[in-house]
Amino acid sequence: MSTDTLRHFVSLAELTDILARIFLRAGVSAQNAAILAANCARCERDGAHSHGVFRIPGYLASLNSGWVDGKAEPVLEPASEAFLRVDARNGFAQPALAAAAGAIADMVSRFGVAIVATRDSHHFSALWPDLEPFAADGLVSLSTVTGIATVIPPGGHRPVFGTNPMAFATPVEGGPPLIFDLATSSMSNGDLRIAAREGRTVPEGTGLDALGRPSTVPQDILDGGGLIPFGGHKGAAIALMVEILSSALTGGQFSAEVDFSSHPGAETPKTGQFLMVIDPDCGTRSRHRSRVATLVEMLRSAGQSRLPSDRRYANRALADRDGIPLTRQTYNDLLALADEEPLG
Ligand code: NDP
Repeated sequence: MSTDTLRHFVSLAELTDILARIFLRAGVSAQNAAILAANCARCERDGAHSHGVFRIPGYLASLNSGWVDGKAEPVLEPASEAFLRVDARNGFAQPALAAAAGAIADMVSRFGVAIVATRDSHHFSALWPDLEPFAADGLVSLSTVTGIATVIPPGGHRPVFGTNPMAFATPVEGGPPLIFDLATSSMSNGDLRIAAREGRTVPEGTGLDALGRPSTVPQDILDGGGLIPFGGHKGAAIALMVEILSSALTGGQFSAEVDFSSHPGAETPKTGQFLMVIDPDCGTRSRHRSRVATLVEMLRSAGQSRLPSDRRYANRALADRDGIPLTRQTYNDLLALADEEPLG
């Protein structure tokens, strides 16, 4: 929200509480407000800043425009014994996932696998918070989400893909879950917007301007240009898969079909989410966790000192000890949105 540097430290519980009251004031149901607030506060705690409190104005703009229904009650539609369709009813994706949690646990315990195809949902956050609880329960999971068309395919001249993240989570013997969660674009749109706001340039290969020229100026990429997929045609193929799993398979809109022009101010993508949850005991008979731990040890001893999730867990440990750092201005902005007295 703000770029000043005076710090104020809040606990996860306090930040979650403030955010829940902001969502409630914006007309979100109490149940959905609690889910969204917990999600956003955990992103901020882990230093996932592109999906922490930075997103609050976007959430509010979408809610105020009437584009997303904060009171939506998801509908579960079993498609087969291990395949669940979820109609999010134009609500946020996280309440839809929460509504499906019991059915997912049941499918995994009975069949060793659960596929969840959610449609008509708005995912405006990181994916790792969706998957970490499965890994903490000893399950392997994979999820993909489509977004708003901001990514130009190779050789193309207009965005077709969203930044289309894909996340994977697994339990590890003797350690916290290993999770990777990455946009299939060169950079997430949130990070691009943060760089634009802070007046920073971005690395070469991030995106193209409105004339199709490579650019390192975030605003030029945002104004009529677009990001490009990571890894050239290989990343583009994964972005394509994300569109197919998250939108074609679920019945959600493709990123390029999202049109909120009739809802000025709206920012959240209304698309779909794919989720697969696997009981690893069906594969290696209880050895999965220790096999993953062996692989992690091989990587570390081969010299990979930083694995996916390491940065987030380090930020989490610091925040658990010291509190979550916000600028005082951001803290006061949040208090104002929650209709509370600011710090003096
Ligand atoms: P990053 O490129 O920052 O990180 C991607 C993954 O790689 C993370 O798991 C990260 O772990 C890990 N990682 C980063 N650097 C290294 C390194 N040097 N060595 C080993 N592992 C590393 O993320 P993105 O910018 O691609 O995406 C950011 C977030 O944006 C994601 O959470 C994604 O879900 C979200 N997003 C959401 C969208 C939506 O529509 N809802 C759209 C697009 C993105 P760590 O977390 O520990 O840094």
